[in-house]
Amino acid sequence: MAMTQVIPPRNTSIVVVVLESNEVYIIVSLSMRKDTQVISIDPTMGSLRYRGKLGHECFISEEEALRHVTDGSRIKCRSVIYGCAVLGYAALGSLGLLLVAKKLEATIPSLPGGGCVYTVAQSEWIKVPLQYAQPQGKGELKNILELTDVDIDGKHYFSETRDITRPFPSKEHVDNPDREFVWNEFLSQPFKDIGLPGICVILLQGFAECRSLGLGGSLEQMVALTARRSRLHPGTRYLARGLNACFSTGNEVECEQLVWTLSRGSQITPFCSYIWRRGTIPIWWGAELKLTAAEAELYVSSHDPYGGSAKYYQRLSKRYAKQESDSVEVNNRKETRVPIVCVNLLRNEEGKSETLLVEHFSESLNYINSSVQLSDAQLRLINFDWHANVRLNGEQQTIGTFWKLLKSPTMAIGFCEGTYYKSLQDLGTISGSVLLNKDIEGGFRLRSFQKGIIRFNCADSLDRTNAASYFGCLQVFAEQCKRLGISLDKNVNFDFSMSRQKQLSNAQFIGYLPPGWEERSDAVTGKIFYIDHNTRTTTWEHPCPDRPWKRFDMSFEQFKNSTNLYPITQLAELFQLSGDIHATLYTGSKATHSQILNIFNDESGKFKQFAAAQHVKITLQRRYKNVIVDSYRQKQWEMFLGIRMARHLPSVYIHSLEVLSRPPAFFLKPLDRIFPRLMGHEDLLNYKRKNMTWVSSTSADVIELFIYLEEPCHVCQILFTISHGGDDSSFAGTVDVRTGATLDSLNIVLEGACLPRCSNGTNIILPLTGPMNPGDLAVMGGSTHLDPQGNEYLPFLYNFEESEGDLNFHTRIVSVTFYPASIEKFPITLGQIEVLGVPLPWREIFHREGMRWLFIERSDMEDSKSRDEEIRGFKVEDYLSSGEIFPVRKTGQLVKSSFPRNSLPEILLPKIEIGIQHYLDCVRRISDKGHDLNFIEAMTLEIERLQVNLSAAERDRALLSVGIIPSTVDPNRSIDMSYLIKLSKLADTLAFVGHTFFEDHIIGATGLEAVETCLDFWNLHEVGSMCMGKHCEVKVFSTSATSSESQATFFSCTACGKKACKVCCAGKGAILLSRFSSKDAKNFSGKQTQFSFTGSDGAAICRLCCPEEVYHSLYVDYVRVLASLRRQSRACKAASKALTLVVGSKTEKRQRESEKAETWLRKLLNGEESLAEFPYAGLLHLIQTAKGSESALSLLLPIGYGEWSSYWRAEPSCQTVDFPIALGSLSDVSGVILLVSSHGYSSADCPHVTIWASNNINREDRSCMGQWDVQTSVATPDIYGPETEATSIPRHVKFHFQNPVRCRIVWIQLSLPRSGFLSLDKACIHAKRIIVFGSMAVPAPLTDSLSDNSNSNTHPPAKLWRFRVPVEGERLSANDLVLEQHLPIGSPPLAGFRFDYFSAIKPRVTHSPAFKDLGMWSSSPVLLEDRFINPPILYIRVSVVQDYSPNWVVVKEYRLPEARAGTIMYFDFPAAIHAKAVAFRLAGDVAAFCDDPAEEGPNFRHVASGLSLVNRVKLFYYPDPNEVGRLASFSAV
Ligand SMILES: [Zn+2]
Ligand SMILES: [Zn+2]
Repeated sequence: MAMTQVIPPRNTSIVVVVLESNEVYIIVSLSMRKDTQVISIDPTMGSLRYRGKLGHECFISEEEALRHVTDGSRIKCRSVIYGCAVLGYAALGSLGLLLVAKKLEATIPSLPGGGCVYTVAQSEWIKVPLQYAQPQGKGELKNILELTDVDIDGKHYFSETRDITRPFPSKEHVDNPDREFVWNEFLSQPFKDIGLPGICVILLQGFAECRSLGLGGSLEQMVALTARRSRLHPGTRYLARGLNACFSTGNEVECEQLVWTLSRGSQITPFCSYIWRRGTIPIWWGAELKLTAAEAELYVSSHDPYGGSAKYYQRLSKRYAKQESDSVEVNNRKETRVPIVCVNLLRNEEGKSETLLVEHFSESLNYINSSVQLSDAQLRLINFDWHANVRLNGEQQTIGTFWKLLKSPTMAIGFCEGTYYKSLQDLGTISGSVLLNKDIEGGFRLRSFQKGIIRFNCADSLDRTNAASYFGCLQVFAEQCKRLGISLDKNVNFDFSMSRQKQLSNAQFIGYLPPGWEERSDAVTGKIFYIDHNTRTTTWEHPCPDRPWKRFDMSFEQFKNSTNLYPITQLAELFQLSGDIHATLYTGSKATHSQILNIFNDESGKFKQFAAAQHVKITLQRRYKNVIVDSYRQKQWEMFLGIRMARHLPSVYIHSLEVLSRPPAFFLKPLDRIFPRLMGHEDLLNYKRKNMTWVSSTSADVIELFIYLEEPCHVCQILFTISHGGDDSSFAGTVDVRTGATLDSLNIVLEGACLPRCSNGTNIILPLTGPMNPGDLAVMGGSTHLDPQGNEYLPFLYNFEESEGDLNFHTRIVSVTFYPASIEKFPITLGQIEVLGVPLPWREIFHREGMRWLFIERSDMEDSKSRDEEIRGFKVEDYLSSGEIFPVRKTGQLVKSSFPRNSLPEILLPKIEIGIQHYLDCVRRISDKGHDLNFIEAMTLEIERLQVNLSAAERDRALLSVGIIPSTVDPNRSIDMSYLIKLSKLADTLAFVGHTFFEDHIIGATGLEAVETCLDFWNLHEVGSMCMGKHCEVKVFSTSATSSESQATFFSCTACGKKACKVCCAGKGAILLSRFSSKDAKNFSGKQTQFSFTGSDGAAICRLCCPEEVYHSLYVDYVRVLASLRRQSRACKAASKALTLVVGSKTEKRQRESEKAETWLRKLLNGEESLAEFPYAGLLHLIQTAKGSESALSLLLPIGYGEWSSYWRAEPSCQTVDFPIALGSLSDVSGVILLVSSHGYSSADCPHVTIWASNNINREDRSCMGQWDVQTSVATPDIYGPETEATSIPRHVKFHFQNPVRCRIVWIQLSLPRSGFLSLDKACIHAKRIIVFGSMAVPAPLTDSLSDNSNSNTHPPAKLWRFRVPVEGERLSANDLVLEQHLPIGSPPLAGFRFDYFSAIKPRVTHSPAFKDLGMWSSSPVLLEDRFINPPILYIRVSVVQDYSPNWVVVKEYRLPEARAGTIMYFDFPAAIHAKAVAFRLAGDVAAFCDDPAEEGPNFRHVASGLSLVNRVKLFYYPDPNEVGRLASFSAV
């Protein structure tokens, strides 16, 4: 099609390369950019990686990028997939899913103002298998695959350059879409997280196409139909009708009809756009589908059926308020009520089931119009029984009648009319309001606006809606054409032509001039005439003299006879296609009744019979689909949108960990006793070497590796790939792990952890906590121990003895020590090691971009004060409503006002001691009653403890100090086991219910301002709470005498109907939980997946009607929430501490003057690269730093960051300081620049500089690059004395090496001049920055000889045989967590046991959302999930009864690694054992696991059946070598 738009230099091109090594690269060349980005997918966790380094991840062309990825095509590719757009990505456990469009159709090639709308014609989910080594449920895995079956092609569209989520023309930028219509918001988040939001298009669902009206002439006339489907109610037909809890209706679509004219080379494009809406009836109703009945049974919610309707219309009125600038309208607000006209096409006859809905519909509008809820909209309902009309009067007359009905609302609402001007000058003087948008060249001049909206509906908003809306919009179309000077008239002498005189007197009714026409007045007579520049003719006649909206008054016949039908049939075709797409999305089949759209087509009669047959077929199809497939498809869309994840993908991380041990991470110490010799020191860390085995020399007793991580992070897990297999004894038996920021500060985090033998290539994970405080451990003991009485004890409610490791986001070095499994001298084999952690968003921090920066800054600003307060003062009101739930703590710390940071006296900061005091006061008050604590008392005490932010260890210490045994206040022990189990099940259900409810709540807020207030979620009270007044009919507590009654809110109990005050109500969670268990639970485990709390907004239940266990479960949930908030607060504090360590505590000075910095850097580097910038580079040892100085790490910060006059200085006593700097990657270093501090040098402190380079940390291995005496040998006079004026380049000293040196580590030593006796007291070493320059080394290609394992010059150790020891009898107890095996007499000595890994999962959701962690894809301060902060750890304790003694003796406790379900592990006993019986007990955080709810339905078993030891453990022995041959191989284990 001939378009005059600016053609972008290239089309977007996507290449997805999968290498033989399973690495996946996404190579993106966007049409809007000139360069090409390479994003890699982490092969283990699936997170996206992009650092933006030119020549490594950023290239000038796609070819260059491809060359880089495939190493000049030397590396083989498994597959190369070409695409034209990235539609989304998600890492879902063991599978990464990348959705790319492979074929696009430019269905609207050029909008007025430019920009193309593409419809996805063919898409592909690229499945990336990940090395995710954690158990995932079968149901989850199935769901993930089902997601890839979602119906994309032909039903989704996007524009790369224009915002098309709002009515045309949008004034918003393309990257700020209206979220209601963005379907891939969840799937685009990973790209936002790596700072490349533009990579993923903004995907809309529905229909967008255009047609030429084919009228010929010098102009081309176009019509486009766009239909955007709302994502707020994504459901399928029988699961999604009427309103949902997000105040949106099923099948809700906004449609837009855009007409414009084009002429070649023209600078202007006039256009008209019209918006309408379609969707099911916005009240709370539904349909029960019965296979036996002919029609689905309709019902309307019995409780508050119109409760959400006002919200629905509010959203519409906000969106369709008149677009004109507000200043014009300010004075007559009253008249700006937005008309919303509902055209209801349902059957409205006696006996028809739809009649019920019609009645309710009109009642709902009366209700809303009469209430004050909707002051800014004017609702009107037009009932028009479409089917009845057609049956009685025929189609043609129906259409005519329909037009008469629609005439006045359509004319009142009008449409948007304007012109696009390519040049801003042309825009200047014409009347109308101007709309500019940085996405377009030029601007829009808008002459009139649409105000309000017509909304069409039938029962499902499918067939009748589509047909009727066509005829309504047809009239608008005719008028749009006329305004644009497009004549649809067949016969100009039609009856309706009016006298010229009358037209002139009614000037506003004259149409606007077509493009190319001009109005002038005769210089002499003043008479108006018209110039047609297209034909160079003049005329007195206005070219468009018609009366406006004249076709509304026509009958069908008149319309048909007077109108050029070709454009009409073009429009009909668009409606038919659009109707089919929406019907398919909603019901899975095409629209019916659409033959009426062909009514203007003379041949339509022929199709009638065919259409009728088709209609029957589609109806049957729909029925089948609705019963069988609706829930399946609904689940797909929910996953696509990232909602209900707690249900569909319960164990999948939303923020996955990052692997920080891959190159450029490297080993700080040489590994020369390992074969094959590691060339680049990093092969063992390189994913490309995943399949290799390394073997130590036999002389090695232990192997100690020092891994220097790519970036500082908080380390959460270590992942081992077992190599060499389970059949030999060469793999290490145990491992120690130490972590720290520098080599001097390593702390042990894991000691003597057992590594099981597994088959070659098995991945096992050891979850890590930070280093534990030894004092804490002493108080609490290990979490695996039995309680003092030796009873079975599992903390099902929550972890009462939660132990807390230190969180450190500066962890940079991980040391792993392997010990051999056997005392015999076998070499130790190693496979790949991966360290997984969470880094801080340093890039955002230094460049002040992105949301997470703001969060961290905020959390840092408030630091220890407010995060604590958030916990202390954490009230349910933070969710929804107002009012104090928890009385102010005695500590007085709950000051609500926020202090300006600087005025906050230190003394006000919360102190642990005050918290302990408060806690002990509470203990005393409660235990005064002289009985054992009951459940509520124990829980209340824990709430108090968490409110004042005490750790479990701090609590235990406090209790012991006053002689109380901590376990006596443990709520887990305050109730009997069966109730404990029941309660924990209920609390798990509540967690799920809470997530669903809040999810709806957040989605429901889209497009609305206010958040509904309702009852608090928990609404818990302290003992001593007062009922709020005499009007309360429940009065659980004694009435307070105060007169707060006037403000008290009362709720009506849904169970007993009594009026209850807030205090006498159970929390919102109670009613949700009881509803869930009563009705929805059945659906839930069955076919249906939909589950929402539609209509539950105002509902409440009183305390007397609330079952006790429900009320108790609210307590459990609340304590779990508080415990989680404590974890999050610890993470935030650690993040803020890490930030402070780098950039100091003065937030206001933290900013980077980017432009200036870039200039400086360019001048300083003179074409070379800066190689040692934090966070990629770091310091390997602690540096002696003076008090009050900037931190030593500040020496490596990006230049220009922070306050310029501040600098680093050493302690005055230091004569010499060494800086061992690990570079960002292997580099060819040419020299070092020392930026001089603002203080400047003097003869006393002008340093001697010595520089070494090396590849490891051993001092003896480094080579000296030179020595410089800055004072004597470097001629730079301007470095002395304090800085006086701004210079064009910072003062610096440059040290050039003679030749560049390839190295990983640069050591810089600064020493004071030796003649220091004169100024001993003053001088100290100081500097502003250290810049290492040179170029990054291109990593040497991995040579083939290396991958050849025969290089290892050791002989493989002897193969191990394990034979099963037969068992005489088994006994299971304690919920299958204990397994006793009895052995026959004469059994061989036991060598160990085989263990098949569990199938239970760790659910991500364990409690209702704490007030900020719901936003699953919204940014939180640190992307560190709860369960990484305190990872649940399982142990297996083995005890035996030996021949000579009747008592059980513990043999060993094995810490279990994590692995995929069913992974086989062999554990050896410390020595061979002769035993009569062996017992295995599963211990540790058993309560943290559950069975896959995606598979089983949320069964919420108290102990996951997947943790059962049945058939999981087999004893084995090592046979005598002679025996091996005799024994049958089937006895091998
Ligand atoms: Zn009350
Ligand atoms: Zn009640």
